[in-house]
Amino acid sequence: MSNSYRPEQIIRPEILALSAYHVPSATGMIKLDAMENPYPLSPELRDEIAQLTANAPVNRYPDSSAVLLKGKLRQTLAISDDIDILLGNGSDEIIQIIAMAVAKPGAVLISVEPSFVMFRMIATFANIQYVGVPLKQDFSLDLETMLTAIAKYKPAVIFLAYPNNPTGNLFDYAAILSIIQATSGIVVIDEAYQAFADASFINEINHHPNLLLMRTLSKSGLAGLRLGLLLGRSEWLTQLEKMRLPYNIGIMTQIIAEKVLHHTVVLSEQAEAIKLERAKMSAFLATIENIKVYPSKANFILFRIHAATQIFLALKQQKILIKNLDGTHPLLENCLRVTIGTPDENAQFCSILQAILSKTV
Ligand code: PMP
Repeated sequence: MSNSYRPEQIIRPEILALSAYHVPSATGMIKLDAMENPYPLSPELRDEIAQLTANAPVNRYPDSSAVLLKGKLRQTLAISDDIDILLGNGSDEIIQIIAMAVAKPGAVLISVEPSFVMFRMIATFANIQYVGVPLKQDFSLDLETMLTAIAKYKPAVIFLAYPNNPTGNLFDYAAILSIIQATSGIVVIDEAYQAFADASFINEINHHPNLLLMRTLSKSGLAGLRLGLLLGRSEWLTQLEKMRLPYNIGIMTQIIAEKVLHHTVVLSEQAEAIKLERAKMSAFLATIENIKVYPSKANFILFRIHAATQIFLALKQQKILIKNLDGTHPLLENCLRVTIGTPDENAQFCSILQAILSKTV
C-alpha cells in the first residue's frame, strides 16, 4: 500500500498560509530595491582578501566562537567589557533566535506597522503571537497605543527598528525609553540603518536591564557576507547563545569581515556620500508635483505618488528596480521606496522618473 503524503496535513496551517519572502530578480537592472551599499570594496582590499581567502582552511569548520572577528567588532564599536556580542547569519537570524527563545505557549511579539516584515514572519515561524501596533499617519510612534498594547498583551519581546524600514524615520527617543520602562519583556532596538542615522541607543544598554541592540553589516557595505550582531547584557546573551547554531558564521565571512573592519574609515566615507546623495534625491523628489517625500535617516527614501504601481512598473521596464509598497499596508497606499545608489544610478533614476511622469501627465 502506498502512502500519500499531504503537506497540508503535516505542515502547520499558519505556514501553509504564508507567502514566501519575495526577492525579485535584478539581472541587468539598476538595483535600488534592497538597501545595499552601491560601492564595491577597493581593488587593493579585494586583492588582500583574495590572498587571505585562497589560504583559508575550508576543509575545517569555522571558529564557532568567531574570536578574532568578535574582538575586532568589540574594538570597532568601542564596546565595554560588560556587554556581550552574539553573531548571526544576518540580523534576520538573530531575530529568529530571539523569537525561538521566548516562544512559550501564549508568548507575544509586538512591533509597529508598517515596519520590517520579518518581525511578523519570524513570529509566525516560531509559533508565537504577533501584534502589530499601527504607526500614526505621519509614521511616528503612537506611544499611547503602544502602552495600551503592552498592558494588554504583556509581550515577551518588542522589536523597534531605529530608523524604521520602510518609512526611514527615527521614532521619538523619549517615547522609546517609555516603552522600555513600561514592559517587563525584552526590547530589541534594531539599528540596521545606524550608519546613516547619527543616532543610536548603544549608550542606553547599561541603563536598562531589558534592552538589546541589534546591528548588521549589510547596509554599510557587506550585505553578501551575512553578518548581524546583537549587543546586550550577558544574562540575556548567555541564554540566547545556547540557541545559536554552532557554525552559523562561515569561515569566509569571518575572514573577510575581520579584514574589512580594519578599513571602517572607507565605509564611513561611503555612508557620508550616501547621506549627501540622499539629501540631493530628497530635494529632487520634493520638486515634483504630486509626490510626497518622507524624511529619511536611512539609506533609502519613501515617497507617495499617484498611480504608484504603474510608475513602479514603468521604472522596471526601463531597468530601474525599486520597491513597490502599494497594497502592503493601508498606511503605505501609493508608496514606493528607493535605495540610494551611486550618483550616476541616482541621476538615472531621477531622469527616468521625470520622463515617465511627463508622459503620464
Ligand atoms: N532589520 C531591518 C530593519 C531591515 O530593514 C533589515 C533588512 N532589510 C534587516 C534587519 C535584516 O538585515 P540582515 O539580515 O541583512 O542583517
